[in-house]
Amino acid sequence: MVKAVVGANWGDEGKGKITDMLSEDADIVIRFQGGANAGHTIVNEYGKFALHTMPSGVFHSHIMNVIGNGVAFDIEKFLNELDDITSKGVPAPNILVSDRVQVLMPYHVLFDTLEEARLAGKSFGSTKSGIAPFYSDKYAKIGWQINEFFQDDDVLKEKIASIAAIKDTLLTDLYHTEPLDQEALLAWIKAQRERIAPFLGNVSLYLNEAIKNNKTILLEGQLGTMKDPDHGIYPMVTSSSPLAAYGAIGAGIPPYEIKQIVVVTKAYSSAVGAGEFVSEIFGEEADLLRNNGGDGGEYGATTGRPRRVGWYDCVASKYGCRLQGCTDVALTVLDALGYLDEIPVCVAYELDGEETTEFPVTKDLARCKPVLKKFKGWKCDIRGIKNFEELPQEAQDYVNFIEQAIGYPVTMVSNGPSRSDIIYRKSPLKN
Ligand code: GDP
Ligand code: MG
Repeated sequence: MVKAVVGANWGDEGKGKITDMLSEDADIVIRFQGGANAGHTIVNEYGKFALHTMPSGVFHSHIMNVIGNGVAFDIEKFLNELDDITSKGVPAPNILVSDRVQVLMPYHVLFDTLEEARLAGKSFGSTKSGIAPFYSDKYAKIGWQINEFFQDDDVLKEKIASIAAIKDTLLTDLYHTEPLDQEALLAWIKAQRERIAPFLGNVSLYLNEAIKNNKTILLEGQLGTMKDPDHGIYPMVTSSSPLAAYGAIGAGIPPYEIKQIVVVTKAYSSAVGAGEFVSEIFGEEADLLRNNGGDGGEYGATTGRPRRVGWYDCVASKYGCRLQGCTDVALTVLDALGYLDEIPVCVAYELDGEETTEFPVTKDLARCKPVLKKFKGWKCDIRGIKNFEELPQEAQDYVNFIEQAIGYPVTMVSNGPSRSDIIYRKSPLKN
């Protein structure tokens, strides 16, 4: 059975923790999109880890961790992360990288950095991991599938020269910098292919067999619906689809095999980078939420920069769940709200004097104001509670309200960062 764990919002909903938790019963965990531009935080018996390229199953020795063809594959970061986790005592994980995955080249990072600098104040807030230039090249058909690395020098040189013809014009004329060093690029390709060769294989074939053998397969999404290039807050989006549906493409499996879609949403909102965020809060109120949030505050797993924060957004989350095709909602970080006397929730948007609960197109979002409803806080520590009925009534009311407002079944409530901090809940929306 194939399950997807994906985000309803702007990312950082706590997908890493939920994937790590669900991995206990999984045979295979797959990354199907994105690259090293976002991070998952996982807390377990080995310590606290920020994963950027590794699938979240790497801490379980019974799991095969797969990098699907849809990923922007940064070989160096991948190998560094592997060294990092094994050096902290984690047994060497099983890893399979698709022989069709495309490689994030050193010049993708360069172009990302140059473009962010050129846009200055109007930048996208990119993590400068090379993701946008990578996907642009992939769809412009000048990318590198990893299998292409294993060709004769002459073939490689010819491809490098044809790419340089385009890139050098931009480098010299637009960015006023040096052209690509073609020799160095060839040497880089040859060095990388030696290091990565042992991990490569035919992923779609492997998964086809696994599905036939009834293996439990987890598709692990990065970011969330708001960052989808089609359905998110374009253009402040990422460059590959974080939707569960894309898991079929980015891993190479039939779409009808994805039977369960766990959509992760946090009990308040956070976002990194620029873009519309209707329920965002500022000042002291935001500092408090940021410092109480997540596991040790809402600061980026990749960049360490403070995340933007706001109240729970039912409008964005309902839309986010719908586009993901949600079968189960995992509501995370509920424990972090224990400090509040009153908890505001964004229940609708006011757009040009009218209230709506349907998520508008980006051009209208900027004019939306949050319609807030306040809930009584529970004012205590709810970590360690295992049954929904044992939560303070105020916390139950909060979860029940969110479930009704978004219209999807909340079957998991996460009340702490570690794997065991989870409450399975019977939802009235699921029989
Ligand atoms: P991801 O990108 O969706 O995997 O989310 P991140 O890992 O970037 O951010 C989520 C943050 O919340 C991390 O610091 C997690 O350790 C933390 N976290 C996840 N679930 C919970 C929870 O239920 N309670 C608390 N306090 N922290 C959590
Ligand atoms: Mg994250």
